[in-house]
Amino acid sequence: MSGPQQENLHPETLAIRAGRTISEYGEHSQGLFLTSSFTYESAAQAAAMFLGEIEGYTYSRFTNPTVSAFQQRLAQMECGERAIATATGMAAIQAIMMTLLQAGDHIVSSQSLFGSTINLLANQLTKFGVTTTFVDARDLQAWRAAIQPNTKLLFLETPSNPLTEVADVAAVADIAHAHDALLVVDNSFCSPALQQPLKLGADLVMHSATKFIDGHGRVMGGAVVGNDKLIEQIYLHVRTAGPSLSPFNAWTLLSGLETLHLRMEKHSANALELARWLEAQPNVERVYYPGLESHPQYELARRQQKSGGAVVSFVVKGGREAAWKVVDGVRVISRTANLGDVKSTITHPASTTHARVTPEAREKAGIVEGLLRVSVGLENVLDLQRDLALGLD
Ligand SMILES: *Cc1c(COP(=O)(O)O)cnc(C)c1O
Repeated sequence: MSGPQQENLHPETLAIRAGRTISEYGEHSQGLFLTSSFTYESAAQAAAMFLGEIEGYTYSRFTNPTVSAFQQRLAQMECGERAIATATGMAAIQAIMMTLLQAGDHIVSSQSLFGSTINLLANQLTKFGVTTTFVDARDLQAWRAAIQPNTKLLFLETPSNPLTEVADVAAVADIAHAHDALLVVDNSFCSPALQQPLKLGADLVMHSATKFIDGHGRVMGGAVVGNDKLIEQIYLHVRTAGPSLSPFNAWTLLSGLETLHLRMEKHSANALELARWLEAQPNVERVYYPGLESHPQYELARRQQKSGGAVVSFVVKGGREAAWKVVDGVRVISRTANLGDVKSTITHPASTTHARVTPEAREKAGIVEGLLRVSVGLENVLDLQRDLALGLD
Protein backbone atom coordinates (compact mmCIF):
# COMPACT_ATOMS: atom_id res chain seq x y z
CA MET A 1 0.00 0.00 0.00
CA SER A 2 1.38 3.38 -0.86
CA GLY A 3 0.28 6.97 -1.14
CA PRO A 4 1.33 9.07 -4.10
CA GLN A 5 3.96 11.68 -3.30
CA GLN A 6 2.50 15.13 -3.79
CA GLU A 7 4.70 17.97 -4.93
CA ASN A 8 4.03 21.57 -5.85
CA LEU A 9 0.31 21.23 -5.34
CA HIS A 10 -1.86 24.08 -4.11
CA PRO A 11 -3.25 23.97 -0.57
CA GLU A 12 -6.83 23.15 -1.68
CA THR A 13 -5.51 20.21 -3.69
CA LEU A 14 -3.35 18.95 -0.83
CA ALA A 15 -6.41 19.05 1.44
CA ILE A 16 -8.08 16.53 -0.86
CA ARG A 17 -5.18 14.51 -2.25
CA ALA A 18 -2.23 14.52 0.16
CA GLY A 19 -1.51 11.43 2.23
CA ARG A 20 -4.21 9.35 0.56
CA THR A 21 -3.38 5.66 0.85
CA ILE A 22 -4.80 3.07 -1.53
CA SER A 23 -4.97 -0.62 -0.65
CA GLU A 24 -4.87 -3.63 -2.97
CA TYR A 25 -8.60 -3.06 -3.66
CA GLY A 26 -8.09 0.31 -5.36
CA GLU A 27 -10.77 2.10 -3.32
CA HIS A 28 -11.31 5.74 -4.29
CA SER A 29 -12.25 7.08 -0.86
CA GLN A 30 -9.83 6.75 2.04
CA GLY A 31 -10.05 3.30 3.61
CA LEU A 32 -10.93 3.00 7.28
CA PHE A 33 -8.64 0.49 8.98
CA LEU A 34 -10.57 -0.27 12.13
CA THR A 35 -8.14 -2.73 13.65
CA SER A 36 -6.12 -2.67 16.83
CA SER A 37 -3.30 -4.87 15.59
CA PHE A 38 -1.72 -6.15 12.37
CA THR A 39 -0.48 -9.63 11.46
CA TYR A 40 2.92 -10.76 10.21
CA GLU A 41 3.94 -13.10 7.42
CA SER A 42 6.47 -14.85 9.63
CA ALA A 43 8.13 -14.85 13.02
CA ALA A 44 11.19 -13.26 11.43
CA GLN A 45 9.10 -10.41 9.97
CA ALA A 46 7.46 -9.77 13.36
CA ALA A 47 10.86 -9.68 15.03
CA ALA A 48 12.28 -7.28 12.44
CA MET A 49 9.29 -4.97 12.76
CA PHE A 50 9.50 -4.88 16.53
CA LEU A 51 13.18 -4.02 16.30
CA GLY A 52 12.35 -1.25 13.83
CA GLU A 53 14.51 -2.87 11.13
CA ILE A 54 11.63 -2.83 8.67
CA GLU A 55 8.73 -0.43 8.55
CA GLY A 56 5.19 -1.62 8.92
CA TYR A 57 2.10 -1.53 10.99
CA THR A 58 2.08 -3.40 14.28
CA TYR A 59 -0.41 -1.87 16.70
CA SER A 60 -2.78 1.09 16.35
CA ARG A 61 -1.52 2.87 19.45
CA PHE A 62 1.67 3.50 17.41
CA THR A 63 0.64 3.45 13.77
CA ASN A 64 -2.45 2.86 11.69
CA PRO A 65 -2.87 3.46 7.93
CA THR A 66 -5.89 5.76 8.37
CA VAL A 67 -4.21 7.76 11.11
CA SER A 68 -1.02 7.95 9.01
CA ALA A 69 -3.00 9.34 6.08
CA PHE A 70 -4.44 12.06 8.32
CA GLN A 71 -0.98 12.90 9.69
CA GLN A 72 0.58 13.12 6.25
CA ARG A 73 -2.18 15.30 4.85
CA LEU A 74 -2.17 17.72 7.79
CA ALA A 75 1.66 17.93 7.77
CA GLN A 76 1.62 18.97 4.12
CA MET A 77 -1.19 21.47 4.67
CA GLU A 78 0.77 23.10 7.53
CA CYS A 79 4.03 23.03 5.49
CA GLY A 80 5.61 20.81 8.14
CA GLU A 81 7.80 17.75 7.67
CA ARG A 82 5.72 15.46 9.84
CA ALA A 83 2.68 15.31 12.10
CA ILE A 84 1.57 13.16 15.01
CA ALA A 85 -2.13 12.76 15.71
CA THR A 86 -3.58 12.66 19.22
CA ALA A 87 -6.91 11.80 20.81
CA THR A 88 -7.82 15.45 21.54
CA GLY A 89 -6.35 18.91 21.31
CA MET A 90 -5.50 18.84 25.02
CA ALA A 91 -3.69 15.52 24.51
CA ALA A 92 -1.60 17.26 21.82
CA ILE A 93 -0.61 20.04 24.23
CA GLN A 94 0.12 17.56 27.01
CA ALA A 95 2.23 15.40 24.68
CA ILE A 96 4.30 18.45 23.65
CA MET A 97 4.90 19.47 27.27
CA MET A 98 5.63 15.95 28.56
CA THR A 99 8.06 15.31 25.71
CA LEU A 100 10.00 18.56 25.57
CA LEU A 101 10.06 19.68 29.21
CA GLN A 102 11.29 18.34 32.51
CA ALA A 103 11.16 19.42 36.16
CA GLY A 104 12.76 22.83 36.56
CA ASP A 105 11.81 24.08 33.11
CA HIS A 106 9.78 27.21 32.48
CA ILE A 107 7.15 28.19 29.91
CA VAL A 108 6.10 31.65 28.78
CA SER A 109 2.55 31.61 27.48
CA SER A 110 -0.05 34.05 26.27
CA GLN A 111 -2.63 34.62 29.01
CA SER A 112 -5.75 34.57 26.81
CA LEU A 113 -6.00 30.85 26.23
CA PHE A 114 -8.54 28.10 25.93
CA GLY A 115 -9.69 27.44 29.54
CA SER A 116 -8.31 23.89 29.81
CA THR A 117 -4.94 25.03 28.50
CA ILE A 118 -4.69 27.59 31.30
CA ASN A 119 -5.61 24.86 33.77
CA LEU A 120 -3.04 22.45 32.35
CA LEU A 121 -0.24 25.01 32.54
CA ALA A 122 -1.19 26.68 35.81
CA ASN A 123 -2.40 23.70 37.86
CA GLN A 124 -1.27 20.40 36.33
CA LEU A 125 2.27 20.95 35.04
CA THR A 126 3.28 22.71 38.25
CA LYS A 127 2.94 19.34 40.03
CA PHE A 128 5.85 18.13 37.88
CA GLY A 129 7.98 21.19 38.54
CA VAL A 130 7.22 22.98 35.27
CA THR A 131 6.13 26.58 35.81
CA THR A 132 4.50 29.08 33.48
CA THR A 133 4.52 32.86 33.27
CA PHE A 134 1.48 34.27 31.49
CA VAL A 135 1.83 37.41 29.37
CA ASP A 136 -0.29 39.59 27.14
CA ALA A 137 0.26 37.97 23.73
CA ARG A 138 0.26 41.37 22.01
CA ASP A 139 3.05 42.83 24.16
CA LEU A 140 6.43 41.82 22.73
CA GLN A 141 8.27 43.51 25.59
CA ALA A 142 6.30 41.37 28.06
CA TRP A 143 7.36 38.19 26.21
CA ARG A 144 11.01 39.26 26.41
CA ALA A 145 10.79 40.28 30.06
CA ALA A 146 9.18 36.98 31.11
CA ILE A 147 11.98 34.83 29.74
CA GLN A 148 14.18 33.18 32.37
CA PRO A 149 17.40 31.18 32.00
CA ASN A 150 15.30 27.98 32.31
CA THR A 151 12.66 29.02 29.73
CA LYS A 152 12.41 26.22 27.17
CA LEU A 153 9.13 26.90 25.46
CA LEU A 154 6.87 29.77 24.39
CA PHE A 155 3.21 28.99 23.75
CA LEU A 156 0.48 31.07 22.15
CA GLU A 157 -2.95 30.98 20.56
CA THR A 158 -3.78 33.38 17.77
CA PRO A 159 -6.38 34.69 17.45
CA SER A 160 -7.09 33.98 21.09
CA ASN A 161 -10.21 32.42 22.54
CA PRO A 162 -12.56 34.17 23.11
CA LEU A 163 -11.21 37.73 22.70
CA THR A 164 -9.57 37.28 19.28
CA GLU A 165 -6.32 38.91 20.35
CA VAL A 166 -3.75 38.52 17.59
CA ALA A 167 -0.15 37.62 18.43
CA ASP A 168 2.67 38.44 16.03
CA VAL A 169 3.93 34.90 15.38
CA ALA A 170 7.09 35.90 13.52
CA ALA A 171 8.12 38.38 16.22
CA VAL A 172 7.47 35.95 19.10
CA ALA A 173 9.36 33.23 17.19
CA ASP A 174 12.37 35.56 16.99
CA ILE A 175 12.20 36.15 20.75
CA ALA A 176 12.02 32.39 21.40
CA HIS A 177 14.94 31.58 19.12
CA ALA A 178 17.13 34.34 20.57
CA HIS A 179 16.88 32.40 23.86
CA ASP A 180 17.18 28.88 22.39
CA ALA A 181 13.53 28.22 23.23
CA LEU A 182 10.85 26.74 21.01
CA LEU A 183 7.66 28.48 19.92
CA VAL A 184 4.47 26.39 19.89
CA VAL A 185 1.35 27.86 18.25
CA ASP A 186 -2.19 26.61 18.84
CA ASN A 187 -3.64 26.99 15.32
CA SER A 188 -7.10 25.60 16.14
CA PHE A 189 -8.96 28.83 15.38
CA CYS A 190 -7.51 29.54 11.93
CA SER A 191 -6.61 26.05 10.73
CA PRO A 192 -3.99 25.75 7.98
CA ALA A 193 -6.55 27.13 5.53
CA LEU A 194 -6.12 30.62 7.00
CA GLN A 195 -2.74 30.62 8.72
CA GLN A 196 0.46 28.56 8.60
CA PRO A 197 2.53 29.38 11.71
CA LEU A 198 5.47 27.16 10.72
CA LYS A 199 6.05 29.42 7.72
CA LEU A 200 6.10 32.39 10.13
CA GLY A 201 8.84 30.80 12.24
CA ALA A 202 6.99 28.69 14.82
CA ASP A 203 8.66 25.38 15.70
CA LEU A 204 5.50 23.39 16.37
CA VAL A 205 1.85 23.85 15.51
CA MET A 206 -0.85 22.06 17.42
CA HIS A 207 -4.54 21.59 16.71
CA SER A 208 -7.72 20.76 18.39
CA ALA A 209 -8.96 18.90 15.31
CA THR A 210 -12.26 18.68 17.20
CA LYS A 211 -12.95 22.19 15.95
CA PHE A 212 -12.65 23.33 12.31
CA ILE A 213 -10.73 20.33 10.98
CA ASP A 214 -13.67 18.05 11.73
CA GLY A 215 -15.89 21.05 11.16
CA HIS A 216 -19.15 19.27 11.90
CA GLY A 217 -18.92 18.72 15.66
CA ARG A 218 -18.67 14.93 15.36
CA VAL A 219 -15.38 13.65 16.74
CA MET A 220 -12.54 14.61 19.05
CA GLY A 221 -9.00 14.79 17.75
CA GLY A 222 -5.72 16.64 17.91
CA ALA A 223 -2.37 16.87 16.20
CA VAL A 224 1.11 18.33 16.42
CA VAL A 225 3.02 19.34 13.28
CA GLY A 226 6.69 20.28 12.96
CA ASN A 227 10.05 19.04 11.76
CA ASP A 228 11.02 15.36 11.74
CA LYS A 229 13.29 15.59 14.76
CA LEU A 230 10.74 17.19 17.12
CA ILE A 231 7.82 15.08 15.91
CA GLU A 232 9.84 11.87 16.28
CA GLN A 233 10.33 12.73 19.97
CA ILE A 234 6.65 13.47 20.45
CA TYR A 235 5.74 10.32 18.51
CA LEU A 236 7.82 8.25 20.94
CA HIS A 237 5.90 9.80 23.83
CA VAL A 238 2.48 9.21 22.23
CA ARG A 239 3.46 5.66 21.30
CA THR A 240 4.38 4.93 24.90
CA ALA A 241 1.86 6.99 26.86
CA GLY A 242 -1.04 6.27 24.51
CA PRO A 243 -3.05 9.48 23.86
CA SER A 244 -3.46 8.18 20.30
CA LEU A 245 -6.09 9.13 17.72
CA SER A 246 -8.59 6.40 16.85
CA PRO A 247 -8.69 5.27 13.20
CA PHE A 248 -12.38 6.10 13.00
CA ASN A 249 -11.79 9.66 14.15
CA ALA A 250 -8.86 10.02 11.74
CA TRP A 251 -11.10 8.87 8.90
CA THR A 252 -13.74 11.45 9.87
CA LEU A 253 -11.11 14.19 10.14
CA LEU A 254 -9.70 13.31 6.71
CA SER A 255 -13.04 14.07 5.12
CA GLY A 256 -13.21 17.25 7.20
CA LEU A 257 -9.91 18.40 5.70
CA GLU A 258 -11.30 17.97 2.17
CA THR A 259 -13.77 20.84 2.63
CA LEU A 260 -11.70 22.91 5.07
CA HIS A 261 -10.77 25.73 2.69
CA LEU A 262 -14.33 26.16 1.43
CA ARG A 263 -15.75 26.16 4.93
CA MET A 264 -13.20 28.58 6.39
CA GLU A 265 -13.83 31.05 3.58
CA LYS A 266 -17.58 31.00 4.20
CA HIS A 267 -17.20 30.97 8.02
CA SER A 268 -15.11 34.14 7.69
CA ALA A 269 -17.50 35.87 5.30
CA ASN A 270 -20.49 35.14 7.56
CA ALA A 271 -18.57 36.15 10.68
CA LEU A 272 -17.49 39.47 9.18
CA GLU A 273 -21.05 40.29 8.18
CA LEU A 274 -22.37 39.36 11.62
CA ALA A 275 -19.61 41.34 13.38
CA ARG A 276 -20.43 44.46 11.33
CA TRP A 277 -24.12 44.06 12.20
CA LEU A 278 -23.32 43.60 15.91
CA GLU A 279 -21.22 46.78 15.90
CA ALA A 280 -24.33 48.67 14.82
CA GLN A 281 -26.55 47.32 17.63
CA PRO A 282 -27.25 49.83 20.43
CA ASN A 283 -27.12 47.19 23.19
CA VAL A 284 -23.71 45.93 22.13
CA GLU A 285 -20.83 47.63 23.88
CA ARG A 286 -17.94 46.12 21.98
CA VAL A 287 -17.25 43.58 19.22
CA TYR A 288 -14.08 41.51 18.94
CA TYR A 289 -13.30 40.25 15.44
CA PRO A 290 -9.91 40.40 13.65
CA GLY A 291 -11.59 41.10 10.31
CA LEU A 292 -13.13 44.36 11.54
CA GLU A 293 -11.29 47.59 10.77
CA SER A 294 -11.99 48.56 14.40
CA HIS A 295 -9.94 45.59 15.70
CA PRO A 296 -6.75 47.04 17.23
CA GLN A 297 -4.64 44.53 15.32
CA TYR A 298 -6.50 44.59 12.05
CA GLU A 299 -3.30 45.20 10.04
CA LEU A 300 -1.35 42.41 11.74
CA ALA A 301 -4.27 40.01 11.28
CA ARG A 302 -4.43 40.90 7.59
CA ARG A 303 -0.73 40.17 7.17
CA GLN A 304 -0.79 36.95 9.11
CA GLN A 305 -4.15 35.32 8.35
CA LYS A 306 -6.04 34.96 5.10
CA SER A 307 -9.30 36.11 6.74
CA GLY A 308 -10.79 36.67 10.18
CA GLY A 309 -12.09 33.18 10.91
CA ALA A 310 -15.38 32.10 12.47
CA VAL A 311 -15.21 33.35 16.03
CA VAL A 312 -16.86 36.64 16.95
CA SER A 313 -17.09 37.79 20.56
CA PHE A 314 -19.07 40.73 21.85
CA VAL A 315 -19.93 42.44 25.11
CA VAL A 316 -23.57 43.27 25.74
CA LYS A 317 -24.59 46.11 28.02
CA GLY A 318 -25.98 44.88 31.35
CA GLY A 319 -23.50 42.19 32.45
CA ARG A 320 -24.37 38.54 33.05
CA GLU A 321 -28.14 39.05 33.12
CA ALA A 322 -28.23 40.72 29.71
CA ALA A 323 -25.78 38.20 28.27
CA TRP A 324 -27.81 35.22 29.50
CA LYS A 325 -30.92 36.81 27.95
CA VAL A 326 -29.25 36.68 24.54
CA VAL A 327 -28.19 33.05 25.11
CA ASP A 328 -31.68 32.07 26.24
CA GLY A 329 -33.31 33.97 23.35
CA VAL A 330 -31.77 32.10 20.42
CA ARG A 331 -33.91 29.69 18.37
CA VAL A 332 -31.49 28.80 15.57
CA ILE A 333 -28.01 29.16 17.09
CA SER A 334 -27.03 26.22 19.33
CA ARG A 335 -26.38 26.82 23.01
CA THR A 336 -23.15 24.84 23.36
CA ALA A 337 -19.60 25.58 24.34
CA ASN A 338 -18.18 23.79 21.31
CA LEU A 339 -17.05 25.76 18.28
CA GLY A 340 -15.83 25.19 14.76
CA ASP A 341 -19.03 23.60 13.53
CA VAL A 342 -21.11 24.29 10.40
CA LYS A 343 -23.82 25.06 12.95
CA SER A 344 -23.45 28.41 14.72
CA THR A 345 -22.95 28.14 18.47
CA ILE A 346 -23.18 30.62 21.32
CA THR A 347 -21.63 30.49 24.75
CA HIS A 348 -21.18 32.69 27.81
CA PRO A 349 -17.45 32.14 28.54
CA ALA A 350 -17.46 33.44 32.15
CA SER A 351 -19.94 30.74 33.26
CA THR A 352 -18.89 27.90 30.91
CA THR A 353 -15.49 27.53 29.22
CA HIS A 354 -13.75 29.80 31.72
CA ALA A 355 -15.87 28.96 34.81
CA ARG A 356 -13.12 26.91 36.47
CA VAL A 357 -10.60 29.71 36.07
CA THR A 358 -10.45 31.92 39.15
CA PRO A 359 -12.44 35.18 38.87
CA GLU A 360 -9.20 37.17 39.13
CA ALA A 361 -7.54 35.24 36.30
CA ARG A 362 -10.75 35.61 34.29
CA GLU A 363 -10.81 39.38 34.71
CA LYS A 364 -7.12 39.53 33.85
CA ALA A 365 -7.88 37.64 30.65
CA GLY A 366 -10.72 40.05 29.84
CA ILE A 367 -13.54 37.52 30.21
CA VAL A 368 -16.13 39.96 31.58
CA GLU A 369 -19.67 38.97 32.60
CA GLY A 370 -21.30 40.60 29.56
CA LEU A 371 -19.08 38.74 27.08
CA LEU A 372 -20.59 36.29 24.58
CA ARG A 373 -18.78 34.17 22.02
CA VAL A 374 -20.37 33.08 18.78
CA SER A 375 -18.74 30.55 16.48
CA VAL A 376 -20.36 31.60 13.24
CA GLY A 377 -21.48 28.66 11.14
CA LEU A 378 -22.54 28.30 7.54
CA GLU A 379 -26.24 29.17 7.90
CA ASN A 380 -27.67 32.24 6.16
CA VAL A 381 -26.32 35.15 8.17
CA LEU A 382 -29.69 36.98 8.13
CA ASP A 383 -31.16 34.15 10.20
CA LEU A 384 -28.31 34.50 12.70
CA GLN A 385 -28.83 38.25 13.01
CA ARG A 386 -32.56 37.81 13.61
CA ASP A 387 -31.79 35.14 16.19
CA LEU A 388 -29.40 37.32 18.21
CA ALA A 389 -31.78 40.26 17.96
CA LEU A 390 -34.38 38.26 19.95
CA GLY A 391 -32.36 38.58 23.15
CA LEU A 392 -30.64 41.89 22.37
CA ASP A 393 -33.74 44.05 21.94
C1 LIG B 1 -10.95 23.20 21.99
C2 LIG B 1 -9.63 23.82 22.03
C3 LIG B 1 -8.53 23.14 22.59
C4 LIG B 1 -8.68 21.78 23.24
O1 LIG B 1 -9.03 20.81 22.30
P1 LIG B 1 -9.89 19.48 22.68
O2 LIG B 1 -9.96 18.79 21.36
O3 LIG B 1 -11.19 19.93 23.22
O4 LIG B 1 -9.09 18.74 23.68
C5 LIG B 1 -7.31 23.76 22.58
N1 LIG B 1 -7.15 24.98 22.04
C6 LIG B 1 -8.16 25.67 21.49
C7 LIG B 1 -7.92 27.01 20.89
C8 LIG B 1 -9.44 25.12 21.48
O5 LIG B 1 -10.44 25.81 20.94
